[in-house]
This record gives sequence, structure tokens and C-alpha cells, in this order.
Amino acid sequence: MTDHDKVKKTALKYGKDRPKAKNPVLIEDLTLRDGHQSLFATRGRTEDMIPVAEMMDEVGFWAVEVWGGATFDTMHRFLNEDPWERIRTLKRYIKKTPFSMLLRGQNLVGYRNYADDVAKVFVERAAANGMDIFRTFDALNDYRNFETVVPAIKSCGKHFQGCICYSLTEPRMDGDVYTLEYYVKKAKELEKMGADSICIKDMAGLIAPYDAYDLIKALKEAVKTPIHLHSHFTSGMAPMSQLKAIEAGVDILDTCMTPYAYRTSHPAIEPLVMTLLGTSRDTGFDIRHLAAINEILEKDILPKYKHLLDDSKVSIIDINVLLHQTPGGMLSNLVNQLKQMDALDKIDQVYAELPKVRKDLGQIPLVTPTSQIVGIQTVNNVLFDDDKERYKMITDQVKDLCYGLYGKTAVPINSQLQKKALKGYSRGEKPITCRPAEVLEPELEKAKEDVKDLAADIDDVLIYALYPVTGKRFLRWKYGKEEPPPEVKPRTLEQVNAEQELIARAKAGELVERIKKENVPTKGDKLRRFNVFIDGEYFEVGVEEIGGGAPVVSYVQQVEPAAALPKPAVPKAKPAEPAAKEKAPEPAAAGGITLNAPMPGMIISYTKNVGDEVKKGDTIVILEAMKMENALPAPADGVIKSINFKSGDSVPKGAVLCVIG
Ligand code: MN
Repeated sequence: MTDHDKVKKTALKYGKDRPKAKNPVLIEDLTLRDGHQSLFATRGRTEDMIPVAEMMDEVGFWAVEVWGGATFDTMHRFLNEDPWERIRTLKRYIKKTPFSMLLRGQNLVGYRNYADDVAKVFVERAAANGMDIFRTFDALNDYRNFETVVPAIKSCGKHFQGCICYSLTEPRMDGDVYTLEYYVKKAKELEKMGADSICIKDMAGLIAPYDAYDLIKALKEAVKTPIHLHSHFTSGMAPMSQLKAIEAGVDILDTCMTPYAYRTSHPAIEPLVMTLLGTSRDTGFDIRHLAAINEILEKDILPKYKHLLDDSKVSIIDINVLLHQTPGGMLSNLVNQLKQMDALDKIDQVYAELPKVRKDLGQIPLVTPTSQIVGIQTVNNVLFDDDKERYKMITDQVKDLCYGLYGKTAVPINSQLQKKALKGYSRGEKPITCRPAEVLEPELEKAKEDVKDLAADIDDVLIYALYPVTGKRFLRWKYGKEEPPPEVKPRTLEQVNAEQELIARAKAGELVERIKKENVPTKGDKLRRFNVFIDGEYFEVGVEEIGGGAPVVSYVQQVEPAAALPKPAVPKAKPAEPAAKEKAPEPAAAGGITLNAPMPGMIISYTKNVGDEVKKGDTIVILEAMKMENALPAPADGVIKSINFKSGDSVPKGAVLCVIG
């Protein structure tokens, strides 16, 4: 019987009642991890997964991805949720379907290589808490970074899925780095390491349908291990690539439930179920059951997250991915970073600079954390470099990469850049060639000691070991030592509805009316006027304390000589000077030179104290911006007169971090 005959025979059978395919395409559902990570900034809360958890368990998925990637970071940092607790909670509802997590090799669920002792214990604890499948990748496809975690996965009796990050340097699978031979070689390495399955991890949605066909076909011929394709929808090609992959014999595919699908996420499951219905690769899924899950997600869950959806564009396809071969998430990060620095007009320069930086850094695949490393260095180059000097402000992570701390790059790093980056580098000026984690001192015992008064168990210690600043803050929230701020609390459906109502009333003009009717206080003589610039628009704002007192200003950042008088209003036509360039040190009113934050971020630490003598160029502050640590140098020689923030503080661009006198 041909596939077509079978379709006719089963045309009305959507449910489990149709004949079972001999070799169904196996499906991993990513809704509860990559789905909300891609569309909703990983903000999905455990309480919003529970209403569909039992129903998801009934679908017949090969696995559900519920953890790893950015979830660990986001949960403890923004959601005030214990990441470990999510696995245990979901396990109470999802009892049959195996759990899968994304493990960033030696980076675990963070952005740098952790020491072997931390990596081993992390895997053991993930397994003990309920993880079954470890989808493991390394941003450089350097499998020496698997040497610690893989034996740990295996000794826990769990499934090791080895990834090959899919990357391109040309529009299609070609060029001299990421060729068919490259991927076959990597697959053979993974099989040798004992991979239980091999995943092509196409994080940017770069894989074109006919390349997918050739690639899967070649891999199926080269290795016996089941082949899994993970492809993001971003560029619009993924559903076509999935179909061609099926034709080439792929074993497992990744999808999301419809409300969490498409855009930068993954193809949806329902169209695929219908596509394969009655064929020899029929998933066997009940499409009405999937529809019932969708209804709950659509009505009760998604309204709480809709505000996080990037609705600035009508199109759900990101054509830039096809133009630049870069992940969509990375591009939106770049846009945000430029926006925060009032430099969005430089986006075209960033697009032009990006392939140059990537080439200089060894044509590395662009995936966390390498996408951030390349992205931030690119922005730094565009903002700070001039005709005389390239790579003026090199991030610590680029220095680490040049040292070999992330592993071996696809092609050698530009030697001039490497030399410049490693000048005065703390670990040494000569790059290493060994497995990166070999140069890392054990970290676990120190972490235990650091939080011995705060951590109740090893899972707590690991939160701190992976994320020292935000992890410690989370543990303080968890054990009632510090009140969590209101922004980490969940949004309820009631709040969402109230907001919607407010917007509707505002649109109907009711709110304006109410303000008019209320008594407006008269302006007092303590009124101070401020110039406010928002996206190039100029506003003059009067500020006065209620009751007519003088407004309290916590600090004033000196950007003009103290003697300058308030300037007249800037006409609207002339937008504010984009203040993106690194400012020359300005004499402050208090008689000192200020170190200003060049970008918004979070203070990791100060490396100097008040009273310390510093030389121009010495590192004073480590500022985390866009997940990267930036060492900020002293703008001049002198003595530290004041330090204005502490570890964990968020600072706006331009904030005076310290004063040197
Ligand atoms: Mn992904």
C-alpha cells in the first residue's frame, strides 16, 4: 500500500485509533524550555507549566525539554524560582515522558567553563533531580569540553545526546570550514564518545532544506546512532528542512505547541502531525488532544506573557538571518545594546563589522556564549575604535577565548589580535593548547565555604557556584534574608485583565477626563527643570517634591563644566547628541575624575577600594552587560575618592561608578 492510499484510508482518523506506523518520526517537545526561551525571554514560570503538564505527558513525545539553557539563569535571577525545584515539580505531573535538558558542555548552564569538580556534581545533581536526556553541546564543537560531563552522564545511567552546532560562513553549506565532511567527522567523534543520539543543533535556523537532506543522508550513512534535528523557525526554512530531513531518514525532530511556535522558536507540532498522517512515518499523535492543550495555553497562560513578545514587526520571519547568517536572538541583542547606548544609527556598521570580528576570532559558530562574545566585541569595535586603533576595548571573554579558555576555534585566531588581547592577561600571555578546564582550579570547596551560612544543600551551593552574584542574592531571597523586589513577582491573569481595561479606557479618552477634573497643584518656587531626551525626542520636565520642598537628587552626573549655565531648550528637530562614544574624563564638581559606566549593566565587583592609588588603565570595576563581563579601566592616575555602588547593583549608562582624585 502506498502512503497515499493509507492517507485515504485513515482520512478521518485524527486520534490514536489509526494504525501505528512502523517507524514513526519521534518528536521532542520544546515548549517548556526553548519555546519560551525563544519567544518570551525564558520568563515562563513553573506554575504556568503545571496546567498542561499531565496532558503533555499523554501526547506520546519521545522527550520533553524542560530545563537547561537559559532557564537556570533566568529563574533565579528574574523569577525568584529555585531552578532545581522546577524539575522535581514537573516530574510529579509528567511521569511517563523522559525529561531533556540543554547542557552547554563544560559551561553547564552558564556562560564560561566551570571547573571539573563543579561540572561533575552539577550533572549528578541534575540526574538525581529527575533529568533523563542530556543534550550536550560546545559552542566551538570542541569535544574535549565534553570529557568531564559525558562520563558523569553515563555513570548516572542517563542518555547522552551529543550536539554538532550547525554553522555557516557562506549562505549555504559550503565554504572551507563548515562542510559536509566537517559534520560527518564531528558525528563520528560523538559516536566514539558513546553518544546515545546525535543532534544537529541549528540554533539560528540556518539550515536550508536541501542542505538538511544532504546532511542527514550523509550522517545516516556514516553513523549508526539515531539522528536528531533541532532547527529554529527564525528564517522560515525549518518546516521545509524538517520535511527534507524526514525524507533523508531523520529519527527525531524538535517542535513546539502552536502558541510557543514560529518566529524565533520552532515549527509547530500540529501541521507536522497532519503532514505525516497515515504515512510510514506517522507520529501517531492525537491532533484533538494537541488542540485541547493549545486551548489552555492560549486562554489561560499566554496572555500573561504576551507583553514579552516582540511585536515591533508584523513579519514572523527574520530576513536578516538569511542575509547575515547570524542567530536572530543575537541580532535582537545587538539592537537592544545599541538602543541602550543611543547608537541604533550604527546598526549597519555593526552588520559590516560582525563577520570581520568572527573571522578574527577563528570563524567560531555563533551560539551561547560565542554569539555574545562576538556580538559585544563587534559593538565595542564600532563604538570605540578609531582610524588609529582597532580592538580598543577588548572584553574579558575575548581575552579568555584568545587564551584558549573556551577551546579550539574552527580556524586559528588572528595572531595580531591574540597578541594584543593577551598583553598583561592574568593567566599568562602564551595561549594554551590543552583541554581548557585543565587550567581551572577546583571551585566547589571554596563555593561551599563562601555560602556555608546560606546554603542548605549542595543544590544551593551549585546555584552560587554557577552564578556568584545573582545566585547569592537568590539564596538570600529564598531563605528570607532579603525581601525580593516586586519585579520578580509573577503577573496574574487579573493584573493582565486590569491593564487591558486601563488601556481600553485610555483609548476611549476616559483617563484624560479624570486627570482634568482633579486639582492640579500650583507650581512652587522650588521647582527644578530637567531636560529629558527619549529616543531623540526632547522634553522639558519640572520636578518638585509634593508639598513644595526641594527635589532630592541622589547624584548628578557632571557632563558639562560646572560653570556652564542651564542651556536653552533644544529644538525638537535637533535630536540629542548620541552619547555613545567613550567620554573623555571630565573634571567633576567635587574635584575628581569620574569613571562612568559606558553601558547599562550590573556591577560584578570593584577591584579597588576607597583610598587605593591607581594608575591610568588599571581595572577598577567589573561591569556585566549583555551577559558579558567588562573590565573598566581607570581614566587617569590618582587615588580613589569614592565608590558609588556595590556588587549586584544595576547601573544606567553614564552612572558615576567611582571618583578618582
Ligand atoms: Mn535552540
